[in-house]
Amino acid sequence: MEEECGIAAAAFSENASTSLYYSLYSLQHRGQESAGIATYSNQIQITKGMGLVPEAFDREDIDRLEGNKGIGHVRYSTSGKSKIENSQPLVVRYSEGNLALAHNGHIVNSEPLREELEQDGHVFTTGNDSEIIAHLFVKYLIDTLDIFESIKKASKDLIGSYSIVMLVEDKLIAVRDPKGIKPLCIGKTENGYMVVSESIAIDTLGGELIRDVKPGEIVEIKQDELNSRKIQETNEHSHCFFEHIYFARTDSFMDNRLNYDCRLNVGKKLGEKYPVEDADLVSPVPDSGITFAIGYAEETGTRYLESLMKNRYVGRTFIMPGQDMRENAVRLKLNGVKSNVEGKKIVLVDDSIVRGITSTRIIKMLKEMGAEEIHFRVGSPPIIAPCYFGIDMATRKELIAPNKTEEQIGNEINADSLKYIKIDEMLDAMDAGRQEFCLGCLNTNYPYNIPSEE
Ligand code: SF4
Repeated sequence: MEEECGIAAAAFSENASTSLYYSLYSLQHRGQESAGIATYSNQIQITKGMGLVPEAFDREDIDRLEGNKGIGHVRYSTSGKSKIENSQPLVVRYSEGNLALAHNGHIVNSEPLREELEQDGHVFTTGNDSEIIAHLFVKYLIDTLDIFESIKKASKDLIGSYSIVMLVEDKLIAVRDPKGIKPLCIGKTENGYMVVSESIAIDTLGGELIRDVKPGEIVEIKQDELNSRKIQETNEHSHCFFEHIYFARTDSFMDNRLNYDCRLNVGKKLGEKYPVEDADLVSPVPDSGITFAIGYAEETGTRYLESLMKNRYVGRTFIMPGQDMRENAVRLKLNGVKSNVEGKKIVLVDDSIVRGITSTRIIKMLKEMGAEEIHFRVGSPPIIAPCYFGIDMATRKELIAPNKTEEQIGNEINADSLKYIKIDEMLDAMDAGRQEFCLGCLNTNYPYNIPSEE
């Protein structure tokens, strides 16, 4: 699974480009294919590049960007190919000026919207759904000459997830979709306000998390003040639960929860509900299983030891789209610790199972190294359906869990036992109600009707 993007915006008392660079660095886990920064000083200035943040920019690129306001973006593509034309921020020119936009999320009805806009004379230069949002804003901006009104109108047309930061000429605006599917939060540093995908980007600059951008909120960000409006009054939230369990950094706070606590408590709940008698050790699948495994070990009193080591110089498993690349990366990534494996009954804890390819390979490797038994415990419930809101997961056909029992999946990955946390157990561990989260990939109850699902 891969997150689609991370975004950042800053309105500072000094040049914003270096701070945005550091913010993007701290959001690197949200997208590794390209990065971009746009600032405003008399006009919008932009630099973008392919690869990780330090590969995408050099010092001169950052120094060349003038202006105290700006936005940044790191990207992993789920819509539009992995190429520089599709990288963000996107800039759209219109009669009154320029708009630069950075988006995290996915628009479900992008195709009909694109067709309508093309019929109205809008010309698209990318295969990216974010460009459709930018053109919609521009369309309504020309009609209303009011940024807030144009966003309100556009949001009526948009179905999907969108956390957005944008420069509309010199105005810096942040928007979160009415269901708050993707995260977005506000922080303050000694230089001014920022809005970012995760609080870790505020920590990195020595700032303080103020609050989340509310679902359906539009915020104009100035150096010393925030102006807030609502797209519509709503108390309905559909935050992606996977942000807490896997995608976001463990040390990020989002929607009033510290992800570390979520993962630790889910691990404890797994230990309470699904202990393994006489296990020699509890091990994580690194890195994403670590906090869950610590919780499991604490709850069951089983010794926490690592049985797998990660090659830290290999990027995330799915760093590049394309199956050949993914398979090579998995083989390069993990190796067993012989003394903690040979003859041992191991509880192996991971955050999730998507296709089951990695889990199968890990269990095979550990058994070949002499593990006596592997009992697999999983920190998220079975994924039975795809994501339509910006997570590159898999098609239904590729997922391992649909229409199978836990026992069948356990047999398929060759585990001696397999237990997933149940939805209610996970919510209980996170002290949350069902109404707070999108759980679409677990139970097909998506925040919006998805025509292909029907
Ligand atoms: S479908 Fe799953 S991955 Fe997608 S937003 Fe909802 S909970 Fe998150």
